Amino acid sequence: MYCLHCGDCCKRMSPLGSPCKFIIQIDDFIFCSVYSKRPKECVNHDFPSRYCPVGAMTLGINEISEIHKRVDRGYELLENGAANIKESAPQPTTAALCSEEHSKATS
Ligand code: SF4
Ligand code: SF4
Repeated sequence: MYCLHCGDCCKRMSPLGSPCKFIIQIDDFIFCSVYSKRPKECVNHDFPSRYCPVGAMTLGINEISEIHKRVDRGYELLENGAANIKESAPQPTTAALCSEEHSKATS
């Protein structure tokens, strides 16, 4: 499942307390600063859909093209973003936070 980096799950359902203290925000994207060491609850956070429906709803994105732009921008921010995110982020194919796929990675 692709994460749209809305931050909703990290703000409201973090096993580490809400909002999670490991949230990092760049523009209107939320990333995880401890991605590679995030709790199993975060790793296993998933929905049976290609894109996170909560993210789409939270962000008000309906068009698939807009969802793709959002996912691509998330990767771009990870590639060009803060060192502290890159340091803890997984490899590009699995991106950050509840990122590309919680099931693959994940946040
Ligand atoms: S994925 Fe990271 S920022 Fe999100 S709740 Fe888990 S530890 Fe916190
Ligand atoms: S998995 Fe990603 S898109 Fe879905 S609620 Fe969490 S941060 Fe938002």
